[in-house]
Amino acid sequence: MKTAKRRSKSAPPRVSRATAASKLRFSEIAGTLADLGRGFYARGWALGTSGNFSAVLSREPLRLAITSTGLDKGRLMPANFLEIDEACKVMLGDGKPSAEALLHLAVVRGVNAGAVLHTHSVWSTVLSGTHAAQGGIALEGYEMLKGLEGVRTHKHREWLPILENSQDIADLGEKVAKTLREQPGIHGFLLSEHGLYTWGADLPEAQRHVEILEFLMEVLVRAGAAQSK
Ligand SMILES: [Zn+2]
Repeated sequence: MKTAKRRSKSAPPRVSRATAASKLRFSEIAGTLADLGRGFYARGWALGTSGNFSAVLSREPLRLAITSTGLDKGRLMPANFLEIDEACKVMLGDGKPSAEALLHLAVVRGVNAGAVLHTHSVWSTVLSGTHAAQGGIALEGYEMLKGLEGVRTHKHREWLPILENSQDIADLGEKVAKTLREQPGIHGFLLSEHGLYTWGADLPEAQRHVEILEFLMEVLVRAGAAQSK
């Protein structure tokens, strides 16, 4: 008892220290995500208010740092991020999470991702429309494929599934979960005439996957794949 009393006078309770540490982690990750978001805007992958970015803060309980909805990605700041729980409830920060936060949660649960990044580039918008009838697009033969985690050769065939876009995000979340269950090993998927979702074990890996997949989609469009379909 004496020890406990002494601790309560000389140091903050354990819960407060844990909260301070998690707030610091949240602000660090929000800063990294804001930098990344402005970078994606500069490259034309998240113009206007499009796209959203998240990273796992903790798994037990599940907590995500994610962009607040409706923000211009060219002016993204750390204060524009929210901490949400597994039911999309805001635990920290001001604003509302995007409806698409449900898709981020579906990916985090489905593949145990540490970060999920969603972009709306011209290339993903074009290809996800022209190839929607095929249910996906094959990326094969390119050296840049080796930037995807676990890929060792340009001969790898990466299948990028295309899911029909919808405003019923709860239903779309179930379709995302089903796709991840049935097609293990994929590195991303497209929503038709909407954009790309990709992820990684951590934020640098997820960022690399955006760069690789956006590069490959731009190559396909520039090479004329869109016109031949
Ligand atoms: Zn979107």
